Amino acid sequence: MRYFLSFISALFYTLPLPLLAQINWNAPESIDAKRSRISTASGQAVVVTANPLASDAALKTLEKGGNAMDAVISAQTVLAVVEPQSSGLGGGSFLLYWDQAKQSLYALDGRETASAQVKENMWRTSNGTAVPWLQATKSLSAIGVPGTTALLWEGHQQFGSLPWEANFQSSIHLAKEGFIPSPRFLRSISLANRLGIDHSPSFKSLYLPNGSLPKQKIPFRNQKLASTLSRLAKGGANEFYRGKVANELIENLQLQQNRHITVNTITNEDLASYKVQWRTPICRKYKSWKICSFPPPSGGGVAVLQALGIFELLSNKNGTQANTNRWHLLSESLRYADADRSHWIGDPIDWPVPLKGLLEDDYIEQRANTIQPQTTKFRPLPGKPKGSELLDLASQPRTAGGGTTHLVVVDVEGNLASYTSSVETVFGSRYLSGGMVLNNQLTDFSFLSTNSGKPIANRIKPKKRPMSSMSPVIVFSGDRPVLAVGSPGGWLIPHYITNALIGALDLQLSPKEIVAKKLLSVEPNYTVLEKSSAWLKGNIHQELESLGHQIKYSSFSSGLAIIKKHNGKWHGAADPRREGKAVGLQ
Ligand code: GLU
Repeated sequence: MRYFLSFISALFYTLPLPLLAQINWNAPESIDAKRSRISTASGQAVVVTANPLASDAALKTLEKGGNAMDAVISAQTVLAVVEPQSSGLGGGSFLLYWDQAKQSLYALDGRETASAQVKENMWRTSNGTAVPWLQATKSLSAIGVPGTTALLWEGHQQFGSLPWEANFQSSIHLAKEGFIPSPRFLRSISLANRLGIDHSPSFKSLYLPNGSLPKQKIPFRNQKLASTLSRLAKGGANEFYRGKVANELIENLQLQQNRHITVNTITNEDLASYKVQWRTPICRKYKSWKICSFPPPSGGGVAVLQALGIFELLSNKNGTQANTNRWHLLSESLRYADADRSHWIGDPIDWPVPLKGLLEDDYIEQRANTIQPQTTKFRPLPGKPKGSELLDLASQPRTAGGGTTHLVVVDVEGNLASYTSSVETVFGSRYLSGGMVLNNQLTDFSFLSTNSGKPIANRIKPKKRPMSSMSPVIVFSGDRPVLAVGSPGGWLIPHYITNALIGALDLQLSPKEIVAKKLLSVEPNYTVLEKSSAWLKGNIHQELESLGHQIKYSSFSSGLAIIKKHNGKWHGAADPRREGKAVGLQ
């Protein structure tokens, strides 16, 4: 995970400076600016994923009588084949799942977990500075115990309706017979190449055979992944964590380890002891809705709920008639929420996160009251929520990423899935095993465990999960789910989602209008506006400047996937900044 220059320079991180100059980490994938068609669909059941082949596979599953959980498995296994730069079985995921029959919402945490072998100082050099981020992403130490397969398995045991193996048919077929590489797939391979692939001969031989990109019009096959998927289809999660797939993975890592003997990485014991955590979703009232998202180790869910809470209070105080005022308040709300998440959030296995305090009405009001009608230009400080009295922590720098995907599904029964999945950066660590991309999620930990002698909540510890920005959301009106949304985008994920929620709920926009709208993001001292002016009318920047905002412009590679209920029907749209597709079943 990489740290933003502005923040780092104030801190103590060593960065790959030449790379920073070339890659915009708000939009690492260099989006196709000319792509203007937005994929939409509506019906009784709707699927939106980041890739047409994954959406089609999920739809097929629904047509066969599968439910939302089966559709998630079909889509995720296909994404592992066709969008391996963003997610796969060697990564981790968060699933927010509404079970219509039980009228209950569940949060399954399949986040990567640090090996029992990790050392607290593994991202620290002998002279006390942080290991350069780029170097860390390529290290075997960056690989966390993958959680995605376990999540899919447990989700299927609890909610699935088709046989487990039926949900692997499309992915096995595509891996074996091949698929036509999409422009984004090819761009991502080039980006991985720029990040460095010399450490991974298996990556080179699969994705850059003889040093060239796969041919544009020739089916791309991944035979090793086809056999891994076939094994998992037959043997389930046990095969991944204790069977042949596990043994092959450890052997592959050991082969690499022989070349880097001082490096610790995951073991058979780590794989065998991996557990999905069933967490309690976090929810807050926003106007007449209830917004639910993912709890820690996600910091994104807390940020979305806090930002909306602050935004609502400020809007009531100031009125949001004027467009400028709305964007001003959104920017301030996000900056305050960010200050809290970089300070208080980590895996609760290590520190007691003051979660209740962070979401309490009194605390949100206190935060809102510190915000001035004109932005102060000061970097907001973290607050002091109830429950934090005994914690004396330091903040960590913000992070960004490029290897994540989001999908949403609603089935005809009314079950709903909002699912974010990641390998961390583009193609994760670029190490492969059994054709699967292995994550580099342990670079999501703070690289240094203390600052000025104070511990950082997101410090590295054995068996701990790194803080994430992934924040799948489901919105309720009364007891009924009416909307599901999520996005990739590293640290900016909750910014994108808050933009989308304000669009959907306050402005009553359709999913298509939401994904077509320019996005607003923040840095500690800046408001960051999306470049291309084709999408949003008005010249809000000048008005924001007059309110004291320092403005920056950037592209964003969000990947919003959203479904919204309107007049008894579900409507979905995929973010045109990526290659997603929405499909529906009448
Ligand atoms: N690994 C990041 C996280 O969990 C997400 C990276 C991305 O969105 O690309 O927060």
